Amino acid sequence: MSFIIKCLDCGHNTSYHPASTTCPKCGSQWREAVYDYEIIGKTLPSQLVNRSSSLWRYHELLPIREPNVSLSLGEGGTPLIRAINLGLMLGCPNIYIKDERQGPTSSFKDRQASVTIAALKEAGITEMVAASTGNVAISYSAYASRAGMKLWAFVTSLVPAVKMREIALYGSQVIKITGSYDQCKQVASEFARQRNLYQDMGARTITSIEAMKTIAFEIAEQLTSVQGTPPDGTLWKTPDWYVQAISGGMGPLGVYKGFREMKQMGWINHIPSFAPIQAEGCAPMVNSWKKGLDKVEPVTSPKTRIETLATGDPGRAYEFLRDYVNSTNGSFECVSDEEAFRAMHVLAKMEGISAEPAAGVAFAGLFKLIRAGIIKPSDTVVVNCTGHTMSADPSILGENWSRDVKFPSADETPQEGLLAALTQVAPERFPKIVIVEDTDEARRLIRRILQSQGNFTILEASNGREGLELIQRVLPDLVVLDLMMPEMDGFTVIELLRAKPETATIPVIVATAKELTAEEKNRLGGQIQSLMQKGDFLNDEFLEEVKALIK
Ligand SMILES: *Cc1c(COP(=O)(O)O)cnc(C)c1O
Ligand SMILES: [Zn+2]
Repeated sequence: MSFIIKCLDCGHNTSYHPASTTCPKCGSQWREAVYDYEIIGKTLPSQLVNRSSSLWRYHELLPIREPNVSLSLGEGGTPLIRAINLGLMLGCPNIYIKDERQGPTSSFKDRQASVTIAALKEAGITEMVAASTGNVAISYSAYASRAGMKLWAFVTSLVPAVKMREIALYGSQVIKITGSYDQCKQVASEFARQRNLYQDMGARTITSIEAMKTIAFEIAEQLTSVQGTPPDGTLWKTPDWYVQAISGGMGPLGVYKGFREMKQMGWINHIPSFAPIQAEGCAPMVNSWKKGLDKVEPVTSPKTRIETLATGDPGRAYEFLRDYVNSTNGSFECVSDEEAFRAMHVLAKMEGISAEPAAGVAFAGLFKLIRAGIIKPSDTVVVNCTGHTMSADPSILGENWSRDVKFPSADETPQEGLLAALTQVAPERFPKIVIVEDTDEARRLIRRILQSQGNFTILEASNGREGLELIQRVLPDLVVLDLMMPEMDGFTVIELLRAKPETATIPVIVATAKELTAEEKNRLGGQIQSLMQKGDFLNDEFLEEVKALIK
């Protein structure tokens, strides 16, 4: 394996050793690995066919001499999952989730830790220091145990206890710092300096950037296998957007380098637009970018409950990332903790994916960028689902997420009592909603959204005439009605419902893809409770409307 380390400030080239972290000529800590792209670009693609799907399939483009099979836990090769329901909800059908929860310790930090520990092992280094908001330390801890290395893990006291225990479980020393993450990093640095130990340098660590690159390679390969090879004869497809929640920004810096290298080797023809998302209470990069600043304005006391993303001072990582965002026509965005929690809940309910709040930040950012029209309906978007939740945060589920069934008292026969209790959760007692909609897809989506919001008995009809009969028969608590349908349109259904006393007061929500004319609006006026544009269902209004109408 041949590569060199090039200084990003003075251009000086050196050979690689993980323990040397600065340019010998100018002292810069910002350097990167450069490979023989000419040769690798030509020879690697044909070799990939026979390789397994771990990140080591790209080992010619990683800064290690030989992949160390004995250290591997199956890192990389995570699935790219199409988010069909989210796509329908948002009116943006090509959303894909890069499911990094499926790494060995459930976050995308497994790439960083596996490649870094492999490089340290090759160099004979046996002890290291890492400051972490949780996930980096968990992952380093797991790989360090395989490599027989000692890890000193510095974490802030805000890191959830489950994560701290996970770090300790693999046998590492956890050092809890009461203070901000930036202060925690300072203490860790000082500790490493005094003992002359190897220290993880975040986005300035060559192995970390190189490891994150493999996300870009995988995305391009996987997207090509679902969307087909590009018409221009390049090897792989790339998405229009890469969306990720960031703290120090290491992920997108590495992913960008991956796309850049693929372009350089002629494998792809364009680099996606980058959308790094931060939590509002700690959004130094977003704020600085929105102000048009060249250098970052640090946030000295982050105010977010999402500790994973609490880097207040990203330093020069901002300058690189700003250039990447600008040159790809991307966008920085930030979201509130509440928006992130809500997005996390939506993701779980719509796609069956339980992600940690930090990953929720990326999805909330996606929703925001689509609504703002920055991400277009026809765009192909990849969202990095960076990590798995350890346990559902109570503030996300709210109240009433479980149903209590009281156990029978002693004087009842057990069967009777239990059955009686169970009738409390019996479907007959749930509010009835009739969906009248001729498109299967739209019907399925509305059903899914309603089901995820509470207990309803949902009945469906696929045209106006059937719908009218169904409504007259079951007298539901609510009707969700399409307008343009075969047999009988929605306007007629409403008029006929309003004409009979039994059905005159049943609330109706009209859901339509049609732009209504003034005359049509007039025709509906006063007859319906609410009008929804399709593709607009993520709008919290819809759910609040449903809840308000069903009493
Ligand atoms: C570390 C981490 C991030 C932020 O990653 P950076 O690219 O380093 O800013 C996002 N989500 C999760 C789950 C993480 O562990
Ligand atoms: Zn230099």
